[in-house]
Amino acid sequence: MTKPHLFLIGGATKRMIQAFNQHFTLHSRRDIDDIDGFLAEMGDKITAVATNGHSGISAKYMNAFPNLQVISCYGVGYDAIDCAPAVARGIQISHTPDVLNIDVANHALLLLLAASRNLIAEDTHARSGQWASAGNLGLSTSITGKTVGIIGLGRIGLEIARKLAAFDCDVVYHNRRKRGDVVYKYYDDLTQMARDCWAVIAITPGGQATQHLVDADVINAIGPQGIFVNVARGSVVDQPALIAALTDGRLGFAALDVFAAEPEIPDALSALPNTILTSHIASATHETRTAMGDLMVENLLEFFATGSVKTPVPECAHLC
Ligand code: NDP
Repeated sequence: MTKPHLFLIGGATKRMIQAFNQHFTLHSRRDIDDIDGFLAEMGDKITAVATNGHSGISAKYMNAFPNLQVISCYGVGYDAIDCAPAVARGIQISHTPDVLNIDVANHALLLLLAASRNLIAEDTHARSGQWASAGNLGLSTSITGKTVGIIGLGRIGLEIARKLAAFDCDVVYHNRRKRGDVVYKYYDDLTQMARDCWAVIAITPGGQATQHLVDADVINAIGPQGIFVNVARGSVVDQPALIAALTDGRLGFAALDVFAAEPEIPDALSALPNTILTSHIASATHETRTAMGDLMVENLLEFFATGSVKTPVPECAHLC
């Protein structure tokens, strides 16, 4: 049997490449110099695309692959994929939910704890040789007993809430809809929730619906003693408004894994001492990336065996 032709956009682990080569005829974008020549010659043979939450798939590739049947995304967030035209063509799209919940939640907690205990400044101080002469830095803030608001109490948000309970935090949340299966207090007004919280953690999807959900009003409401953690998408927060509030002290601290124009981080943000910044690595452990890669491959294999994928994005669930 001939192997289906798979077009890979973005990077993949060795284990994923091995699986792709075993089951597919692999065409990696990174190995193709003359992309227009490739698309003209091979475009109609490509039936599967493997991509990630950052790269997505451009209209150029969508149009160049008239026989495309399935797009498998390495990541749970798929806002970089324009689903509507794909769904209209009956193309199935899968992503990798659940397998990354624990490590993304762990990273959110790591950022929150590091922010509240001033970890980066403490590390710098301890290495500086100034401890003996200058003494200790100022006191930090305990997480225990504080109210923490979660924007996006979904799969990962629930895992964050579960972990916050171990620190005796009072968890509250904002979604578009109140959940019927949790005891946490619900706010339909995000600014009001921010006013009532010591810290706010964003873990919604990106895209149009959440664009600048965390605006200047929400940032001001978190306040000068407050902490904002973003492990969602950079688009969820108004980044210039965030930088302005951190600069003039209207917001206490921001711990950010995601940014508006990744991989660029504005100097005005990286220069701020009241921030901790990581390079979109919340799910980037050996264990979780292996599980994500395996699920991405399983989705492709399942599609070519049965005609449907294991973990479709909600927009495609009706195709399975
Ligand atoms: P889920 O779909 O399980 O949860 C998303 C939650 O966000 C739901 O509770 C949903 O509730 C809420 N939500 C969606 N839209 C809005 C809106 N417009 N306003 C308010 N709340 C909203 O997703 P996951 O928990 O699996 O993943 C969430 C996101 O986390 C991903 O899409 C991705 O963007 C991000 N992520 C980031 C990672 C990183 O490396 N930093 C790694 C993994 C994920 P409702 O529908 O009721 O509004």
